[in-house]
Amino acid sequence: MHAMVLHKGAPELRHEEVTLPPCGPHQIRLAVEACGVCRTDLHIIDAELTEPVLPLIPGHEIVGRIVELGPDVDGWAVGQRVGVPWLGRTCGHCTYCRAGRENLCDAPGFTGYTLNGGYAQECIADASYVFALSRDADPVALAPLLCAGLIGYRSYSMADDALRLGFYGFGAAAHILAQIATWQDREVYAFTQPGDHAAQRFARETGAIWAGGSDQSPDVLLDAAIIFAPVGALVPAAIQAVRKGGRVICAGIHMSDIPTFPYADLWQERQIMSVANLTRQDGEAFFPLAEKAAVKTRTTRYALKDANTALDDLRSGRLNGAAVLLP
Ligand SMILES: [Zn+2]
Ligand SMILES: [Zn+2]
Repeated sequence: MHAMVLHKGAPELRHEEVTLPPCGPHQIRLAVEACGVCRTDLHIIDAELTEPVLPLIPGHEIVGRIVELGPDVDGWAVGQRVGVPWLGRTCGHCTYCRAGRENLCDAPGFTGYTLNGGYAQECIADASYVFALSRDADPVALAPLLCAGLIGYRSYSMADDALRLGFYGFGAAAHILAQIATWQDREVYAFTQPGDHAAQRFARETGAIWAGGSDQSPDVLLDAAIIFAPVGALVPAAIQAVRKGGRVICAGIHMSDIPTFPYADLWQERQIMSVANLTRQDGEAFFPLAEKAAVKTRTTRYALKDANTALDDLRSGRLNGAAVLLP
């Protein structure tokens, strides 16, 4: 089968013929139908995340159909459609796993980072970490839900019952969460790069009641802000935009350094927190919610062999919404 492969020291992915091993115990083999391109993939290829297992097939927003069941797989059948997320495996017995915080597992496996992912025609996944997906939906539309939606949702959950929500960076994750927030009668305030009117228009179209540059402010204070952009300078900006007791949630896996700011801006019990990975419970809550809220993702399709172009388009901010690869 064909895959896009990251090699040590290479600046780009290579289109190659790859043979996957047979399924091991508890594993399933999927024919990939679509795989989303996530900003984390860029951080891996650009070596900002430093521990990939190379050579590597990236991709952790995988929609596929089961074509083979390994030994000891229960509850799945050949032909079913499933989604494979970033969390590919956990140890099951560390302090975090036992406390229901498997997103922080001490010995995890991450799809498309330490385990081969979905920039390919086929992939192998642990059957215990995949999610059942609707057979009727368009696989391209589903792909961005697997990370932008799912880890975005974990960030969104950290905002508790915030009514006025700020999103900094309006791309794949924010456009999904804005639809859920609007469906839940919350107000979304979208902050984009200054002057990015296309992103601001996109934000309004997906439910934001206010959209402007990150150098602007709406005339209300926010209950919570989620930072999707990998830009540390947005943290002090967001902390000034939230009310007393408000929260700033950093949703990304990587961010540039956060500049210093006066303690007075944090005081009054404002909080800054980060979100890491996902739990399977997040998925069990998120996928039915996305269906109820009738989330529609905006996607741009690329052929698998054009993955480097898709990554460049994401890097340069030319995309509104999400890039999805078709095998
Ligand atoms: Zn663990
Ligand atoms: Zn991701």
